[in-house]
Amino acid sequence: MCGIVAYIGPKEAYPLLMKGLQRLEYRGYDSAGVALFNGDIRVYKKKGKVQELADYVSTLSYEGTMGIGHTRWATHGEPDDINAHPHFSGNRRLVLVHNGIIENYDVLKKALEKEGHHFESQTDTEVLVHLIEEIQTRENLPLEEAVRVALTRVVGAYAIVVMDKQEPGKLVGARKASPLVIGIGEGEYFLASDATPLIEHTKKVIYLNDQEIAVVERNGDLQIKKIDSNEVQTPFIHELDMEIEALEKGGYDYFMLKEIYEQPDTIADAMRGRINPRENWVRLGGLEKIYEQIANAQRFIIAACGTSWHSGLIGEYLIEDLARIPVEVEYASELRYRNPIITDKDVVIAISQSGETADTLAAVELAKEKGALVYGIVNVVGSSIARATDSGSYIHAGPEIGVASTKAFTGQVTLLTLMALDLAQRRGEISETRFQELLTEFKNIPDKVQKVLEKNQQIKYIAGEIQDKPNALYLGRGYNFPVALEGALKLKEISYIHAEGYPAAEMKHGPIALIDEQMPVIVIATNRSAYDKIVSNIQEVKARKGIVIAIVTEGDETISHIADHTIEIPDTEEPFTPLLSVIPLQLLSYYIAVMRGCNVDQPRNLAKSVTVE
Ligand code: GLU
Repeated sequence: MCGIVAYIGPKEAYPLLMKGLQRLEYRGYDSAGVALFNGDIRVYKKKGKVQELADYVSTLSYEGTMGIGHTRWATHGEPDDINAHPHFSGNRRLVLVHNGIIENYDVLKKALEKEGHHFESQTDTEVLVHLIEEIQTRENLPLEEAVRVALTRVVGAYAIVVMDKQEPGKLVGARKASPLVIGIGEGEYFLASDATPLIEHTKKVIYLNDQEIAVVERNGDLQIKKIDSNEVQTPFIHELDMEIEALEKGGYDYFMLKEIYEQPDTIADAMRGRINPRENWVRLGGLEKIYEQIANAQRFIIAACGTSWHSGLIGEYLIEDLARIPVEVEYASELRYRNPIITDKDVVIAISQSGETADTLAAVELAKEKGALVYGIVNVVGSSIARATDSGSYIHAGPEIGVASTKAFTGQVTLLTLMALDLAQRRGEISETRFQELLTEFKNIPDKVQKVLEKNQQIKYIAGEIQDKPNALYLGRGYNFPVALEGALKLKEISYIHAEGYPAAEMKHGPIALIDEQMPVIVIATNRSAYDKIVSNIQEVKARKGIVIAIVTEGDETISHIADHTIEIPDTEEPFTPLLSVIPLQLLSYYIAVMRGCNVDQPRNLAKSVTVE
């Protein structure tokens, strides 16, 4: 979480940093700050959005061709001007921005206080910059060496950039379990949490590997070393494949709405080159490479967090149903701390939009230690999980800026569907005729998603009907149960309405007690199997005066007579239903949030890319 951007080169740094912070704001927006070097170091920081910082700085002078910037997602200390980054060292010689958590900050702080250090903020970050100062002055070390030594004493996760007014020709960046990218421009360098602030300036980037420290210098020098061994590393320069339009709202009010509407294309992009209904094959490149090992797997374990965990649950239904391989789905944060049984006969599938989710990354490392083969399903190219896994596939959804995930979710589900179909065919679990039928229908999904999007006005109307309700219940069965969870999460995230998702039949075991005329119950009732059961569940809700909003298959006449509102979606094969049934739920939460005056792209307390545990 949090966004870091830094610049050294011939241009004025301030406008570049501010533009970069705006691009990174989706990662955290509790406060923002910049430090500029122009003979001396000046720091400007403000609680709130980047715009508030811009308003504050507009009347001040902000020259300098080197600087660092930060947009914060607070972990230690409330969001205010003092806790905002950058943080100064005690001697005002160094400034530092940090993403992550210094877990042993308390011990370090006490030791430093004994040495006479005084702290202004409540952050863990300030302790780190004082530690670097202490080592630098005591041992008289160059900046990069002082930073490196300090980092060997730190427990936790970090991406940092440090600037030293006595060594003004350089910036030092380092990372452990939090991302940092170096952009190489014409006679200039950038450092950033991800590539989004860089693409306007350069396509050449180096993704810093875990536990590496980099020095970029005004004279063009660049050096990367291992933090623990001091060993020099040979950098690999990647060419970015991203266009600037992908980072603009393109006429939409919010990125989330744009991303919802992109889904016919992003789903088609996730399929592209991987599916051929005429020749009757599905191929996931990443799977092909490791197919021998996967074929003998005793089970799959899917590790993920949040929305990705919901797509993982759909993956479980798909892979068990079609490919007949046992699957378990785990919250990565639980898996990593609960002494799980994982062996070299297991395949662990890690799912993460950003590829930086701290818990998922840690679960990947754990699985590798235990000898399992690890497969990644990731959106951000070159991200940590993409690099840490043995093999994997990108969903190719393009940058997802809205904090509430939409197109990444359907991209993940698309990939899991392809994986299930690929494995089903290779393992002979499905007849060729059935395979052909499924494949032909799967190709129609992007067009059918487009048809669901065309229901937007009806969905907006329904949103208006329930926008003032304090709670909502989402119900689904089978493939639609994880969709119910995802629908509830979307509503919570962006509209702050309390919502719960349940398997429809579980309602009787508790949540039914909540139902009265104030409770909207969103039922996903497109199932071909267990259709009668879900109709009974709807009757049970209506008998208690709940407000039923049902997602049904086109032409459904039974439910439309019982429910208060029905939203029709095109018919499809049951395993593909989630890709259609989730769309009205995304739109419903979007419209409700807008009607309630919420900032859809930057919901309170949340941030994209959860790089802290
Ligand atoms: N732990 C630091 C703080 O609370 C950094 C948080 C972040 O990643 O934004 O200030």
